[in-house]
Amino acid sequence: MSDKPIYVTRSSMPTWEEFAEEIREIWDTHQLTNMGPKHERLERELESFLGMNCVSLFTNGHLALEAGITALGLTGEVITTPFTFASTTHAIVRCGLTPVFCDIKPDDYTLDPDKIEDLITDKTSAIMPVHVYGNICDFKKIEAIAEKHGLKVFYDAAHAFAEKVEGRSVAALGDMSMFSFHATKVFNTVEGGALAYNDESLRPIVKGLKNFGITGPETVPYLGGNAKMDEFRAAMGLCNMRHLSEHIAKRKVLTEIYRERLSGIEGIKLNPVREDTESNYAYFPVVFDGFKLSRNEVFDALAEKNVFARKYFYPLTNTFECYKGVFNADNTPVALRIADNVMTLPLFSDLEPEDVHRVCDIIASL
Ligand SMILES: *Cc1c(COP(=O)(O)O)cnc(C)c1O
Repeated sequence: MSDKPIYVTRSSMPTWEEFAEEIREIWDTHQLTNMGPKHERLERELESFLGMNCVSLFTNGHLALEAGITALGLTGEVITTPFTFASTTHAIVRCGLTPVFCDIKPDDYTLDPDKIEDLITDKTSAIMPVHVYGNICDFKKIEAIAEKHGLKVFYDAAHAFAEKVEGRSVAALGDMSMFSFHATKVFNTVEGGALAYNDESLRPIVKGLKNFGITGPETVPYLGGNAKMDEFRAAMGLCNMRHLSEHIAKRKVLTEIYRERLSGIEGIKLNPVREDTESNYAYFPVVFDGFKLSRNEVFDALAEKNVFARKYFYPLTNTFECYKGVFNADNTPVALRIADNVMTLPLFSDLEPEDVHRVCDIIASL
């Protein structure tokens, strides 16, 4: 007997009827893109949901990151983490800047603020931390360092949509935050992303950068590319926003089952819970530290039983083949160790509680 496959994630979708109703208008207006009514409606809805002056939609999170780096006027060196998705590091390099890798904290895998100051030089222009798995960075220490040295703080908040810390929206931290609305994220627009910031003076450049630098029919003040979100994706976003809290509530229930089942097992370290944070339950990472099997052995044992977890984040970005000879991962030993031992378990809103039990039964039986 072979059990049905369980994948690490599955995209949240509205019903076909709800989406069909949402896109009906597009056939009346024939406006498919170029900041149409759905795009504008979703931007205003996200501004109010995130409590921000400005939210700008993009065709994906990665291009939003690149636009944010340019809009903030970053130069030279950027202090960042290698324990992230390829996008964060590539965005810095593709913008012609140098990533300077800072190690992470062993407890929540975010940038270790105590190691930042040693890396600051006269070329440093910014800190780009990542709220890994939705674990909110030590923003008070990071922002105090940034203020002391006159640096910008640009958060990769791809994992942290809808979260709150000490009652504040995560989007309000630092100078700017990037959210990804990729199909695999807690909230999706198929592909998509956004920049969130409060400095209104950045609005023209951010908008310009996603539309060829054009700000008026005859004015092109910026060197922009094309990263506009189209009306179909904005429609998907409008639908998915209606069900966001229901999806997060379902993820929470599943997360609690995982925690209860796995917390007693020796050698398995669970993600920390912070009392001052409202989580979005985006991921369920486990670190194998002193467990009887290695991460790779557990990964293979699950796959044999048709359960497909993910080695996330592995490998570290500073060990990628494209950066061979450029960076030295020995400078970030904690990140190196976590990347070798971490795995995210299947988690999505319509995963069944029985499926979570099945995953835990396999791990418990190893
Ligand atoms: C998903 C993700 C991105 C990139 O977002 P896309 O929308 O896929 O371009 C960037 N950083 C992190 C940490 C991510 O998880």
